[in-house]
Amino acid sequence: MYDAIAVGSGLGGLTAAALTARAGGKVLVLEKNPGFGGAAGTYPRAGRRFEISLHETTRPEVPGDPKGAVFAALGLSERVEFVPIEIFQEVRTPLLDGPARLGGGLAGVESALRRVLPDMGDEIAGFLGQIGRTLEAIEAMSVRHDGAWWRGHAADLPLDLWAVVRDMGSSLSDVMSRHFGHIELPKLLLAANLPYYTDDPDRFWWLGYAVAQGFFLQHGGHYVKGGSGALVEALVAIIEEGGGTCRSGATVTRLLTGDDHAIRGVEWRDAGGTLHTELAPVVFGNAAPERLAGMLPEGPGEALHHAQGSAAPSISLFEVTYALACPGRDLGITAYSTALLPEWMLMLDDYRAASGLLGHPPSDRMPPLIVVDYGQIDSGLAEGVPAPVSVTGVDRLANLAGLSAADYAARKADWVAAITARLDAEWPGFAAAVGSAEMATARTMQDWLGTPGGAVYGYAPDVPEHPFRGPESRVETPVPGLFLASAWGGMGGYTGAMGAGAEAARRALRRR
Ligand SMILES: Cc1cc2nc3c(=O)[nH]c(=O)nc-3n(C[C@H](O)[C@H](O)[C@H](O)COP(=O)(O)OP(=O)(O)OC[C@H]3O[C@@H](n4cnc5c(N)ncnc54)[C@H](O)[C@@H]3O)c2cc1C
Repeated sequence: MYDAIAVGSGLGGLTAAALTARAGGKVLVLEKNPGFGGAAGTYPRAGRRFEISLHETTRPEVPGDPKGAVFAALGLSERVEFVPIEIFQEVRTPLLDGPARLGGGLAGVESALRRVLPDMGDEIAGFLGQIGRTLEAIEAMSVRHDGAWWRGHAADLPLDLWAVVRDMGSSLSDVMSRHFGHIELPKLLLAANLPYYTDDPDRFWWLGYAVAQGFFLQHGGHYVKGGSGALVEALVAIIEEGGGTCRSGATVTRLLTGDDHAIRGVEWRDAGGTLHTELAPVVFGNAAPERLAGMLPEGPGEALHHAQGSAAPSISLFEVTYALACPGRDLGITAYSTALLPEWMLMLDDYRAASGLLGHPPSDRMPPLIVVDYGQIDSGLAEGVPAPVSVTGVDRLANLAGLSAADYAARKADWVAAITARLDAEWPGFAAAVGSAEMATARTMQDWLGTPGGAVYGYAPDVPEHPFRGPESRVETPVPGLFLASAWGGMGGYTGAMGAGAEAARRALRRR
């Protein structure tokens, strides 16, 4: 008999299990894959470690970061080291003579953009000013302050709150259009990393962008030294030190409920095919809700399915990871993260067309790419050999639907060749330096994570139906004892998944 069982070992499941174990609960984590972490983790290749997902996350100590409370409660900062990324992103587009280097806080980003767009200083300041005020409002609401702080901020607070309230129901496109009108270049530069969230700026909730992107622009991005696998290992260690058990190769097949439809436990299958039953009054559902609904008896399964409403799954991503014969720096790469915008992308709206490109063999239209050179920082991914370089862009499962295994392999090989050629055009010598390359697609994500469509951020960050109620938390489900502890519980990404895991643990412990 356990106090809680996590179905899946993604960051949300591990966070919920670690917090429960730390609070004295007996926990079991069941993971279908051979390793823990879901989308988070690293794996050995060509003498270095390849990163599965992490490009950048925010430092937990930043006020208002939901990871902060988790790191404090678990003492994670003593086990995990964050490496700062000096320039959050370099953006390269044929529309500019040289790269725009965005970093140095909101003020630094403003100067960089004024340098490349000297006629748009006021518009840039207005847009970044709205982000700055939104961050201040979030900080005012999410952090406890003393009287002196409130007195010092009294004059600014109404303006900060107005920055939030006026665009509560707006999309990223709405707000960018208000600030920049039909001038698209500043929009492209400020949303060059859109694949970190979505492919559709018309549906992307402005507040989601303002807070997540604002944190990155204001406080800079960070990487976990040793890769996201180091964070996963630390969470697993905390669970095991607390007497909990983490099992890989353990596929949950059924969620067991009682006559009252409340959770009673799970049935799972080991790698040898043997079925086991474990009992617990709480399940942290880290697998996608659609999958969890399929594991429940009909009544509770239907209830969970209905509770998800009409929300759409987020985008998926493709990723090509390279082992190079020389450091990226020697080839001319000058930033940790570079957004390469193709010449056909002239408008923010063009992002929508990008996600379908992998549905065809490569043509002269390349997708926008985010290139991460892990050798530009002390990433801890390689010793004595150059650190890996990875390239990410938006993908959809429909792009690969119906392809036989041979056609799928051929499509991937063609795209690796095309992406390599694109990088070689930007940084001559890149292709010759490639020792090996490996590509993951939406299909890989679906197989590895078990998410519908290979979604990597839970639900799409669309403008919510009831924006004034704030971002919807789906952590609590209609099935008593079942909590969504994943990106599907709230927001996507490392911060969103860990935040939902923490919320799931809090609610489960309160029930206990
Ligand atoms: C290429 C890429 C780049 C990314 N870059 C970033 C980034 O830079 N910054 C950022 O913040 N985020 C990034 N993300 C997103 C981030 O990694 C995810 O949003 C987050 O890790 C999701 O965590 P999760 O807890 O929802 O679980 P997931 O990672 O989705 O894991 C779910 C787990 O449940 C397991 N499972 C499913 N069904 C069962 C079953 N029946 N039985 C047992 N186990 C089961 C799966 O095997 C999986 O391990 C990126 C993702 C990808 C793929």
